[in-house]
Amino acid sequence: MKTGAEKSLQIRNGCKEKRSMASGCLRKVAPAVFACFMGILFAAGCGARVPRYEALDTAMGTVIRQSIYTREEDITAEVEYIIETLEKSELSWRLPDTEAAKINAAAGRGEPVMVSDKLYEDLITLLEVSQKSGGAFDFTVGPVVQLWNIDEWAAGEQADAVIPDKEKIAQALQNTGYEKVVMENGGISLSEGMSLDLGAVGKGLACDRIAVFLEEKEVYGAVISVGGSILTYGKKPDNTPWQVGIINPEDTSSMIGTLSLKGQWCVSTSGDYERYVMVDGVRYHHILDPATGYPADSGIRSVTVLCQSGVLSDALSTACFVLGKEEGMELVKSYGAEALFVDKEGTISMTDGMRDIFRETGEY
Ligand code: FAD
Ligand code: MG
Repeated sequence: MKTGAEKSLQIRNGCKEKRSMASGCLRKVAPAVFACFMGILFAAGCGARVPRYEALDTAMGTVIRQSIYTREEDITAEVEYIIETLEKSELSWRLPDTEAAKINAAAGRGEPVMVSDKLYEDLITLLEVSQKSGGAFDFTVGPVVQLWNIDEWAAGEQADAVIPDKEKIAQALQNTGYEKVVMENGGISLSEGMSLDLGAVGKGLACDRIAVFLEEKEVYGAVISVGGSILTYGKKPDNTPWQVGIINPEDTSSMIGTLSLKGQWCVSTSGDYERYVMVDGVRYHHILDPATGYPADSGIRSVTVLCQSGVLSDALSTACFVLGKEEGMELVKSYGAEALFVDKEGTISMTDGMRDIFRETGEY
């Protein structure tokens, strides 16, 4: 006979098929995927009377893992739909009809592209992060990302990865610069040759959209990971905190520690282990310093940022990775956010607020 807890665990129809799809077709994102699996300790066996629904899917080139407590119906398919819609109608730079692709296609024409109110608001937030970080986060870094061919990188060693010429990097940098973005009256326009790259923030944006939906559905509690961004929401039925693990950059199958969180938070991590190539023994990772056009080299291996907005936690983690510890700390403090840095020596540094909720695992 099933116990109450067993009965309350309901797995969405088709979830098993999606699990095998996740492991079969996500060749390029595999390390990030394992990282995010390891990165979450899902609530288990809490003797709850609130049913828990779980789902495992893929979108935005990564794995989406959901654990939702609700007394209402299973909404995991709707959450997945929200993420897919965000990718396919707003953010993807790979698909021709998204809002981002239309902005890119109109670069240099002088006509602003009108976008949805929500996306406009998010882009204004991102422009502000670009300004406040002195361009360490820059959503116009697209031409340089394309030159490095980062979209095609598998994680790990890749024999055919080509490091671009210095001259080409310098040329591509001419077509970047958030200062050249014009945003007014709900429209946005870029100069000729520029392109938006929202890869650094898509997952955080997804967390924000999901949080609004969970509120509408009066969900009891949830923890949802969209690749490197994790949303905690509401309560666990046993009222213990959500536990979110932070990956050890040296060994992505282990964690350096966990964050204990109550209520609604977004946690985003940017690390040099997520997407990279090794060429002649040198690691080239996917977080570029927009000032040089080369992978950022601030002495940091990973940065985790915690705040209540997903778009901010995601943009700030990227910015902090580029800025390094001291300047990064100042930036997050200016937003009232918390951060944890792991540097190349393995030293962990964090803001005071993060210290209150972080517990090191014994193994680090
Ligand atoms: P972050 O550390 O948050 O950011 C790094 C990414 O942001 C880089 O990959 C680059 O795109 C960009 N970037 C680099 N430096 C900077 C900087 N200084 N400032 C601002 N941005 C910077 N992956 C696939 O393999 N296949 C797909 O089809 C696919 N589709 C996607 C669709 C969407 C809408 C999104 C958001 C992502 C998609 N991805 C896909 C994943 C994507 O290619 C990146 O690997 C991923 O977004 C990196 O996220 P992160 O959190 O690991 O990196
Ligand atoms: Mg980010």
